[in-house]
Amino acid sequence: MLGRRQFFTGVAATAGLFLVPLQKAWSNTVKTFHSVTQSSEALKRLERTHEQWREYVSRDAWEILFREKTERAFSSELDGRYPDGTYVCAACHLPLFSSASKYDSGTGWPSFFQPFEGHMDTKTDYKMVWPRTEYHCIRCGGHQGHVFNDGPRPTGQRWCNNGLALTFVPADQPLPALRG
Ligand SMILES: [Zn+2]
Repeated sequence: MLGRRQFFTGVAATAGLFLVPLQKAWSNTVKTFHSVTQSSEALKRLERTHEQWREYVSRDAWEILFREKTERAFSSELDGRYPDGTYVCAACHLPLFSSASKYDSGTGWPSFFQPFEGHMDTKTDYKMVWPRTEYHCIRCGGHQGHVFNDGPRPTGQRWCNNGLALTFVPADQPLPALRG
């Protein structure tokens, strides 16, 4: 019979066998998505109060973006649709995701495996008691959603986004000018 210590060592070794090579394989194949809007000027944090964004977005979108509310699952028209294009911040128009990183997570919220490099900032929140990683637009600070580690390849991440916090721009249309 295995002693307690041997048992736990065995479990850890088994888990390591499966997890470590998988993560390594993923990190080697991750392609970074870069947005066309990536000058340091465009990524500078805006000096604007949350109140000042009210005139640009709907009331529901503002509550999500600047009060960190969450929209109802399966309520977004962006969920379950996969046309080519770019998803920009509904408030300041900074491009946040490429349609190439969108996938069906089955959660009822638009989900992506990767944002544009450098366009999101994160923080830890405890609204659900256990810690979650909240993320927001690096330019206006508008809350977008939460990121989890149960996503698909190549990153293994699930960026679970509120549809109302995004505006979709089809690939054959120009990106809107940045606001603010
Ligand atoms: Zn923004």
